[in-house]
Amino acid sequence: MAKIMKIPFLKILRYLLHVLLPRTCAHCREDLRYPDDGPLCPACRANLEPIPELHCKKCGVPLDSGGEYCFNCRGHKGGVALDFAVSAFVFNPELRTLIHEFKYRGRRGLAGPLGLELAKAYDRYPRLKPYNFAMPVPLFREKEKERGFNQSRLLAEVLGREKKLFMLEGAVERIRNTPSQTGLTKKERLENMNGAFKVTRPELVKGRRVLIIDDVATTLATVSELAGRLKKAGAAGAAVFTLAREP
Ligand SMILES: [Zn+2]
Ligand SMILES: [Zn+2]
Repeated sequence: MAKIMKIPFLKILRYLLHVLLPRTCAHCREDLRYPDDGPLCPACRANLEPIPELHCKKCGVPLDSGGEYCFNCRGHKGGVALDFAVSAFVFNPELRTLIHEFKYRGRRGLAGPLGLELAKAYDRYPRLKPYNFAMPVPLFREKEKERGFNQSRLLAEVLGREKKLFMLEGAVERIRNTPSQTGLTKKERLENMNGAFKVTRPELVKGRRVLIIDDVATTLATVSELAGRLKKAGAAGAAVFTLAREP
């Protein structure tokens, strides 16, 4: 009985809070009209762009015309350790705002709704199914301390819970704090990442298909380096799934 009473009371409380302290859309800053709205208002939410059906089978970048691979991937499909990468959304202004608030402005609570978006998009990619060990991209320890959390881990936790994936943690460490990737060419980025990760517990990786989770995919330099280390340690596969894809 007590339980039945509790729900409407909480609902009323939430509604009152909503009226007294109106929340705003993370992107356009309009007031949110309903307690269940957010972090984006319905208009901004509708602007999120799922990755189209037509995307590169290797790196996940949307393709303008037909074909299976983008121009960059056509030449060296076999050369990279990464099996493939897919993403939930295009990295557009609305999503950029959400990820910025999440990562740099400490809105840790956004992990919930963003992780659920990731879980929804997961169902569109049956190719991800065999990769049943989720692994967040490890952050350098000092960086994680500074931020207070690892955004990839929080996303992976929500996805793992929703899709019943095993969490693969403590197998890899980031042993080098890599300088910012901004302004570097793809080749420089790959060199920049060289030796950034160390598989500290190969027995956790061996024979497993690993799904590397990250917030944004850009050149895939970081995740390719990680995938290479995993494969060397005996992983049976390494694919990447990110929330956003920067073209
Ligand atoms: Zn909005
Ligand atoms: Zn590609």
